Amino acid sequence: MRKQERRAWICLAIVMVLLVGLGIFTYRFIKHGGEWATFYGNTQIYTDGQINRGTITDRNGTELLRCTKDGFVYNDDYETRVATVHAVGDPKGNVSTGAISRFKSQLIGYDILNGTYDSSAGGKTISLTIDSDANRAAYEALGSRTGTVGVYNWKTGEIVCMVSTPTFDPADEPENADDMNEEGSYFFNNFISGTMIPGSTFKLVTSAAVIDNMPDRDSFTFDCDGVNQLGDGDDTKLYDVSAHGTVDFREALAESCNGAFGALTRAVGAKTMKKYAEKAGLTEPVDVDGIETAAGSFDFPDDNDVRLSWAGIGQADDLVNPCAMMVYMGAIANGGEPVQPTLIKSASFLKDITGGKSMGRYIDEDTAAELRDMMKNNVVENYGERNFPGLNIYAKSGTAESGGVNSDAWFVGFTDDEDAPYAFVVWVKDGGFGASAAAPIANSVLSTLESTE
Ligand SMILES: [Zn+2]
Repeated sequence: MRKQERRAWICLAIVMVLLVGLGIFTYRFIKHGGEWATFYGNTQIYTDGQINRGTITDRNGTELLRCTKDGFVYNDDYETRVATVHAVGDPKGNVSTGAISRFKSQLIGYDILNGTYDSSAGGKTISLTIDSDANRAAYEALGSRTGTVGVYNWKTGEIVCMVSTPTFDPADEPENADDMNEEGSYFFNNFISGTMIPGSTFKLVTSAAVIDNMPDRDSFTFDCDGVNQLGDGDDTKLYDVSAHGTVDFREALAESCNGAFGALTRAVGAKTMKKYAEKAGLTEPVDVDGIETAAGSFDFPDDNDVRLSWAGIGQADDLVNPCAMMVYMGAIANGGEPVQPTLIKSASFLKDITGGKSMGRYIDEDTAAELRDMMKNNVVENYGERNFPGLNIYAKSGTAESGGVNSDAWFVGFTDDEDAPYAFVVWVKDGGFGASAAAPIANSVLSTLESTE
């Protein structure tokens, strides 16, 4: 009897080992199957270390890259190449955020159910969500300046424009820089990998905190003398571009009054400000089809009113990622719930299921509606609707002091037209004033998109 019992235990142990082994294999197969199939030693797929099949197009079918046995063939237009290289990728793989490396398995034709299902020579075609005309417009508008432009459809999540400068021609790739993928490098994608001082664009986060936590905000007023001294000494001055006079909450945002927003930040307090920066999704990376953006960071001290005020104004130690800021704009546009951004228009059946999904609630619906209303007021009262002909635009500018020769210029917001629901972010290093330097770039790109819809 004891012998049988022991045998039963041994059988059970063997079964357990088998089950655990099967479990580990299944897990590894699902997690790493794509890597195994796309392994560099697979000569069916690679020539001299480069993928030799697969095609990448933009959303309208414009061919951006064809991988052949004789090497990569890029679009024959120079501006199209330099304006899309951070989305498409380069032959040497220096652009780590490019589709060539990120969507390798889809390009080759691998999926979990069928393996390398497309064993023919051509590979698969990946349609990216970007519009190459809009990318070119962004590249032209940025000119020789360092910066980034990101635009996405806040209803579907499709990124229609993603440009980063400085950029380079993948058909004539520069030699490897030592600072590859470091900030300022040709290979660095400011939109995905950058974090910058947000300047006054961050007042949209502070405003959300005010709307939710100051029921008496409609009776708030502030007398701005342009200097707004908090205590004794020069380091307690909350400087403004000019004396704004007496402003209420709405006017404070439209005029972007630092003194008023310093007071509003102190009124809601450090703990609440920290919570709202997190709620806005600005402190976590954004997932773009498996590409993780950089995460922003903030410091809201509860024992230093001057530092706290500057942090609520979008200065001090504040850093945001442009993609995360664009998503926050999408949240305001979409009633408080942003849609997950994506770069692949069509590649697999899985994509059709997961595309356009909500990222959860970032802002209460009523709060989002009030922010939207204030952003329209900014355009009417400050930026001028005539500067955005044909666009139903909501926006906030930003002018960030980053220690450069000039300020960094920002313009963020969204449009709400039936056929063109776009959230956008524009950042120009050393650009000067946000409204004058970055707003025309947004207008140029959004008009291009509007005309191609
Ligand atoms: Zn002011």
